[in-house]
Amino acid sequence: MDDRVAIITGGSRGIGRATAIAAANRGFRICVGYASNQAAAKSVVSDIEAKNGKAIAVKCDVGNEGDIVALFRAADEFGKLGALINNAGIVGPTSRVDEMSAERIQRMMAVNVTGSILCAREAVKRMSTRHGGSGGVIINLSSVAAKLGSPNTYVDYAASKGAIDSFTIGLGYEVAGEGIRVAAIRPGLIDTEIHASGGEPDRAQRLSQMVPMKRVGTADEIANAIVWLMSEQASYVTSAILDVSGGR
Ligand code: NAP
Repeated sequence: MDDRVAIITGGSRGIGRATAIAAANRGFRICVGYASNQAAAKSVVSDIEAKNGKAIAVKCDVGNEGDIVALFRAADEFGKLGALINNAGIVGPTSRVDEMSAERIQRMMAVNVTGSILCAREAVKRMSTRHGGSGGVIINLSSVAAKLGSPNTYVDYAASKGAIDSFTIGLGYEVAGEGIRVAAIRPGLIDTEIHASGGEPDRAQRLSQMVPMKRVGTADEIANAIVWLMSEQASYVTSAILDVSGGR
């Protein structure tokens, strides 16, 4: 059991929610970041507290540096940081690149890439032995889109996740001697509301037959991999990217 704080950006719904509950079950004090859905964030906190876990919810748009700094300050008040799950992420509506606005692409990169890097910056400042910390774990949410490129759907999203893969490898090497492990998960088609937010609620089910295992995955199946990476069971894993995708 680890009773340090785990910050989970976008911890209010989907994969983030499942991870918050799974990590709380392993003893972590959970700091649930959310963008706007306060009710969903509060319900995660209530579910954790109902099982005698500890959790707080903090509003944080990871596209905003000020929000990120405030999130980490709130977490400092809550306990000693031991893990960051860079989970918050967005997709855009299905579109070709020659139809995309600059605003869409900039927002995609601000949330999915810059937000993750800035959160990692704050986590390294607290967890690195170079800064007097006692180590920790950073898990980034990539996507199999980084390998597939997502043509005619959202190449900008795929590119943002490709950046997360490179970031995971580089940051992992950078802090490997400072007590911090860094890894990424590349989920495949997972049954969450992200598909509806891109305008296609049945996307995961529609594409499920293209998955070698012939089904979509669940948020819990991703959370199980994340909490393993967070644990001492994964003590020799860093700069690693794990596909959790039913073979996709
Ligand atoms: P989801 O169901 O859409 O949930 C998104 C979560 O992120 C919510 O908690 C949301 O908060 C939060 N969020 C959205 N924009 C944010 C922002 N700007 N700042 C902070 N938080 C923000 O998403 P999901 O499917 O669980 O996806 C989680 C991660 O897995 C993402 O990085 C995604 O790219 C990746 N992924 C998902 C799939 C999949 O098939 N589902 C596949 C591959 C990778 P609110 O509740 O406040 O809106």
